[in-house]
Amino acid sequence: MEISEILNEWGEERELYFNAIAPPIMQTSNFAFKKVEDLRNAFEDEMSAYLYSRGINPTVDILRKKLAALDGAEDCLVFNSGAAAVFAGVLANVKSGDHVICVRNPYSWSKRLFAVILPRFGVTTTFIDGTEMKNFEEALQPNTTFIFLESPNSWTYEIQDLQAVAALAKSRGITTFIDNTYCTPLYQRPIEMGIDLCMQTATKYIGGHSDTLGGLITGSKEMIKKIFDSEFLTIGSGIQPFNAWLLIRGLRTFQARIERITKTTGQVLQFLKSHPRVEHVLFPLDESFPQYELAKRQMKGACGLLTFSLKNGTMESITTFCESLRHITMAVSWGGHESLVIPRCAGIKPGHFKAGKPEHQHIRLYIGLEDADYLMKDLEQALSNV
Ligand SMILES: *Cc1c(COP(=O)(O)O)cnc(C)c1O
Repeated sequence: MEISEILNEWGEERELYFNAIAPPIMQTSNFAFKKVEDLRNAFEDEMSAYLYSRGINPTVDILRKKLAALDGAEDCLVFNSGAAAVFAGVLANVKSGDHVICVRNPYSWSKRLFAVILPRFGVTTTFIDGTEMKNFEEALQPNTTFIFLESPNSWTYEIQDLQAVAALAKSRGITTFIDNTYCTPLYQRPIEMGIDLCMQTATKYIGGHSDTLGGLITGSKEMIKKIFDSEFLTIGSGIQPFNAWLLIRGLRTFQARIERITKTTGQVLQFLKSHPRVEHVLFPLDESFPQYELAKRQMKGACGLLTFSLKNGTMESITTFCESLRHITMAVSWGGHESLVIPRCAGIKPGHFKAGKPEHQHIRLYIGLEDADYLMKDLEQALSNV
């Protein structure tokens, strides 16, 4: 299906609601029944009926259909945050005694799930450098049942060979799960490469306006139903109808925003690369990126996030740079309309900063919807201060 159809029409049944172009927000907790038998059927298969909004809700359903289609997947569940999507998707697929392989630098709260929470329930995890296939093979154990990927990640953009990992996992009956927030389905479609479950933080590019959190998982009907029937209903962290409506609204401009952000990011990338005060820029589709060839092969694009370091950066110069920006805002998250900066050293206690450690020098920039010149002028004046 074409992206334009998915974003503008797919999943919507306007004749059911006065032919309104924007769908209604079904802000209801529960749904009425006339027949006991219908109620019984709904209890038996809650995914098939409008019974209670912790399960299925009509506004959320429109969003589920669009997001499944974007990923080329059979079905989708939407959660009230990306972290909730990871939690439910992983929990539904591991049990005590299982072993997980996880890439070494996933999103911080995904890392906590594997490093701190799951060990309490007898699930062990090996964290590996996922840039090399042999590390997956070496980490395999007889009880390995789950592989968690994030490609690229959102600071250093390390990439896994998705087709190769999927093939290895399939040959051993291992479930694969990817956090695809960086690329979005516009730039990477992991389900088509053989990955079982594809997760995205809708808070970022899908919402696009920094006004709601959300998360999603897509996959086969069977795998999605397995998550729904158990963890989704039990954890109760499905998205609320109003927030689902905001995400549908975000989708209308999704492609247009990604195109613009991609173009501006390319301009800012060149600006930073040629700036005398910039030491190094990390961006997966830049020729200098260590995994450039693989990135080009499996990603159709890369957009708003890049990481750079200052020449001879110190805690002081990095701080001066970030605090000198007048328009680019210092804040966590990304994917919204507004450009953002965040220095790695904000997470490092002053005495622990090591200038010799490249990652301590990292400054992450998110490029939003502003004009490229406006952003480059701001970067230029802040760089001239260090
Ligand atoms: C933000 C983010 C998450 C978590 O999403 P929330 O909606 O904040 O819970 C997970 N993975 C990645 C890559 C993210 O950037």
